[in-house]
This record gives sequence, structure tokens and C-alpha cells, in this order.
Amino acid sequence: MTVLLDLSSVSVSIGSAALLDGISLSVARGQIVGLVGESGSGKSLTAMAAMGLLPLIGGRITGGTVRFDGQNMGAMTDAGRRALRGRRIGFVTQNPMTALDPVQRIGEQVDVVARLHLGLPQAAARARTLDLMTQLRIPDAASVAEAWPHQLSGGMKQRIVIAMALAGEPDLIIADEPTTALDVTVQAQIIQILGSLVRDRGLALLLITHDMGVVAQVCDRVAVLYAGRLAEEGPVEGIFAESAHPYTTALIGCIPQEGMARGSLRGIPGAVPAAFAMPPGCRFHPRCARASDLCRRSVPPPRSHGQGTVACHHPEAGT
Ligand code: SF4
Repeated sequence: MTVLLDLSSVSVSIGSAALLDGISLSVARGQIVGLVGESGSGKSLTAMAAMGLLPLIGGRITGGTVRFDGQNMGAMTDAGRRALRGRRIGFVTQNPMTALDPVQRIGEQVDVVARLHLGLPQAAARARTLDLMTQLRIPDAASVAEAWPHQLSGGMKQRIVIAMALAGEPDLIIADEPTTALDVTVQAQIIQILGSLVRDRGLALLLITHDMGVVAQVCDRVAVLYAGRLAEEGPVEGIFAESAHPYTTALIGCIPQEGMARGSLRGIPGAVPAAFAMPPGCRFHPRCARASDLCRRSVPPPRSHGQGTVACHHPEAGT
């Protein structure tokens, strides 16, 4: 499989705060990789590093490399990175209203991506917009193309944002919590549509989510982040059958099960530590029932586990 996105031991700081520490993950063509963790785990920062957008928030890569299709993004000019975004890397945000211009009709906002990145004339761009909207199962695409953003439901707006991300024919899509603001039924539909489009077109998708249920639904591999470090990475099937890191197991335990009584959803006690108050050793130790003295003083190095890696001194499954 051709690896499109490859992060190798990437560390990121903003000012004096070290926020990501040695993150490694890759996404190959035709593959869907979930990047999962609670708020504050570093998921969105990892996405910004992957898109070369850290300077926008005053961030910088302090170690490791980000490669897109074999090219070191750190060695590119700003113009080179800008050219990749939109054309070869599409981005889907969690809030469609930040991506849509409220005073421009829907169709024009999708057309412009194909005109800009593919150089299509207006009529061809519009034909492409309507085709994409139909593939995203938007009923009566021609009427929706003439609508204003405020006339559409949240689920419909998110489909338009996905159409915009696909309109430049990218090779890689990075989707940051693309369904968080939507109700559960619409969430499931959109994830399923996005998954089939990625597979049909042989694209690569990095799907950022806090929800292991979404990972189980559509991803091939999953990378679990905790407090800026990679806890576990591997094939979804293997990790769901036998997770090795206690944090991964806890996240899987948070997936609501059918028939579960209302209010019985299990959360993970405690909270992700703030960047300025990271505990020594394993950062998960204050929340971990398996924590030992070793965990409290020494950082667990990532080691091979099955077809992936785990960073834990006392993994739950054999390594
Ligand atoms: Fe728990 Fe120790 Fe593993 Fe950290 S290293 S997850 S504290 S068992």
C-alpha cells in the first residue's frame, strides 16, 4: 500500500509548552485511520501538524518529520504547503458554519474549489458539484445548490463541507470530528457515506474522533492519543478484540451498547491533564488502575504489539 501521510516521532510545541511528544502514525491510500482520544489529547494539533498549519496557531515542530507522499513537509516553502492543501489534502471541519460563507449560495462555494484547484470552467465545475452532491446522497442537488447555508439542516451543511473537501480531487482527507455536532442517526449516515466515498475513490482518510464507536464503524486502523502521546496503534479488529493499553480499553468501554439503560454510560474517571501540569512517567497513571511505581516515574516506550504498537509498562494483552 502506498503511504500518503507519514508522521514519524513528531513533537510539537506552542511557546514553551510541549504539547505533542513523539507521535508516529501513517495513512495509506485506500485506508481509513482513526485518531482517537478525549478533548485535550492532541488530536487536532496532530491534524494541524499533518497539514502544515501549526504556524497559524504559533506552533512549531520540535522533533520528527511529517511526510506527504514521500515529501518532507518541513522542508517545503509556505507556498508549497498551501498548494498541497485543498488540491491534494482536503479538510473537513467539525463545525460546518466555520467552513461555509453565509452570504454565498451553496453551489458556488463548491464550484470554486474545482475551478481553483482543477482549473475547470464554470459549467464543468457546476456539473462536478451536482455529481458530488448526488454521491453524498443530497436529494434534489440542483435546488440545494441554489440555497443559502442557513436554509440547510446541520447534516446537510456537513455533507456540503465534505463535497468541498472532495471537489479538488484530493488524495488524502483529514476530517476533524466531522459529525460531532449532529444527532446520532445523521452521524452514522455521514460516516458511512464518507467511508464508502473514500474506499470507492481509493483515497486515504485520517478521521479524528473522540468516539470509539465511530472507529469501529468505519476505520481500518486506529491511533489512540493520550495527553500528547501515542498510547496504542494498530488494526481496529485486533484492538477491539484485545486492546493492550488500559486507556484504549477504557475508551472502548465508553461505547454505548444496545439495550443499555439510560444514564448507564460509563465515562473514564478523572480528566486529561493540562499541558502545564503533565504528571511524570506515564501520563495516564493518575487514572489507571494498573499503575505501579515504575509507571509513576518512567515513561513507557512504544513497543511492538501484534501488528501495531503500545506504550504501557503493564499492558493488558500479551506483547
Ligand atoms: Fe497504566 Fe502503567 Fe500502563 Fe500507564 S504504563 S497505562 S499507568 S499500566
